[in-house]
Amino acid sequence: MRPALYSTRIVLAFALILTFAARAGAAVEPRQIKTGVFTVEFWPGDEQIARDSLETLQQTLSDFAQRLPGGGQPITVTICRSVQEFRRRAGQYGRTWVGGVTRTPSGQIAVKAPYLLPQPGDYDGLLRHELLHVLLARNVQDEFLPRWLNEGIVMVLSKENRWGSMARLARMYASGRLIPYYNLDFAFLPLGDEVLSGDAYAEALSLTRFLIDRLGEKGFWNVVRAMRQEPFETALLQATGLKPGPFYNAWRDSMRVPAIIITAASAVSVFNIMAFIVILAWVHKRRRNLAILQQWDEEEWAEAGWQNEYVSPEPWAEEQEED
Ligand SMILES: [Zn+2]
Repeated sequence: MRPALYSTRIVLAFALILTFAARAGAAVEPRQIKTGVFTVEFWPGDEQIARDSLETLQQTLSDFAQRLPGGGQPITVTICRSVQEFRRRAGQYGRTWVGGVTRTPSGQIAVKAPYLLPQPGDYDGLLRHELLHVLLARNVQDEFLPRWLNEGIVMVLSKENRWGSMARLARMYASGRLIPYYNLDFAFLPLGDEVLSGDAYAEALSLTRFLIDRLGEKGFWNVVRAMRQEPFETALLQATGLKPGPFYNAWRDSMRVPAIIITAASAVSVFNIMAFIVILAWVHKRRRNLAILQQWDEEEWAEAGWQNEYVSPEPWAEEQEED
């Protein structure tokens, strides 16, 4: 009897463990909402975020239906509720400054929930950014599109301006920290730190804007479309007559004047500004005191019966005196 009793207990214990395991497994399964090609996965408590996300995704897909059609293939977006979960999905890209990752062209996106971002207001831009990576990947050949341009196009189109800081670029220029063209794509690898990564995004955005300014919107989209069948380098040469090296140099030269102005402006400290205000206030007060003294003088002259005799021979001479 004893062995039979033990085996019954063991079976019961296993059954209990399996039940708990099944419940634990069920608890980590995300919920889903679906519309059109989109499936948004989320956890309880984030329903509103998921619904708003779906709206942003659909709007973006519709905005770019002509330029970058989605092709009708499914796109799944997972809203991660913890940093650990994001790191699990993002692999090597699960870093502090990374808010979302995308597998293209399959359309698997994972983003940190807004409350995990340093600036929750960046969430919509982040979502558009990741979706545009998918749309771009479905409309050009991945191997023809440099990484910097991929990020640059996506940042411009998503209006995600986190890295659009001219002050940052001016500092990079002034300190000789601009990333050379041949190194730029490698600066996006997950091995870099936050500063290098931020510099790479800022530079990619500025270079892309420079390209758009140079080509105009129509010419820019021609280059994007050309990357279905030829590398960016070939498309750039056809559109501008420039190879990447001279194109990069032209961009760097365009940075010189803004960099000098911004660096000089930022060199003026708060102390300098305060000192300038004090001097201005002193000059203003001195001028007012002189005016009062002159008024008293005139009154004394008037009292003495000289009012009709006191005429300044040259009004500008009087003005100069006041200074
Ligand atoms: Zn990106």
